Amino acid sequence: MSEYQQIYDSKVAELQEKRRKAKEQAEIDKMPWHKWTDFYCKKCDEDMRLIGDKGYTSYKGGRWFYRAKCEKCNSELIRRITEKKFDPYFIESKRLRTDRKRYWKELLQRDDPRFKKIYGDHELAAERERENELRTNFDNK
Ligand SMILES: [Zn+2]
Repeated sequence: MSEYQQIYDSKVAELQEKRRKAKEQAEIDKMPWHKWTDFYCKKCDEDMRLIGDKGYTSYKGGRWFYRAKCEKCNSELIRRITEKKFDPYFIESKRLRTDRKRYWKELLQRDDPRFKKIYGDHELAAERERENELRTNFDNK
C-alpha cells in the first residue's frame, strides 16, 4: 500500500468515526434524563428495576450512563449508554445469566463435548441406543 493510500484511508476512517460518534451522540441526546432501567447489584446479587438518572463522565474520551442507587445496600449501580455492548450488566445480571443458561442448554448440540458434561453419559447412551435401534430396523427392512 502506498503512503498516500495509507493517509487517505486513515482520513476516511477518521471521518467515519466522527460521523459514528455524532450519530451516537444524537441518539444519546434523545434519551430521557430519568428512565426506568434494569439494574443489577453485585453486592446483593439481585436484579432490580429502578429509575436511572442519565449522567456523563469525561473518563476515557467521554461516557454516558444511567445511574441509580441500590434500594437495599445503597451501592451505585451503572448501566452504560456509550459502548453499550460492553455494559457489564449483560454478563453480571442474575436474570440474564439464568436465561442464558436455559437457552444455552436448549440450543446445545449433541455432538458438542459440553453436552455430555451437562446431560451425562446416560443421556448419550440412551441416544446411541435409539440410533442403533433405528439402524437395526432400517437394516432389517
Ligand atoms: Zn445492593
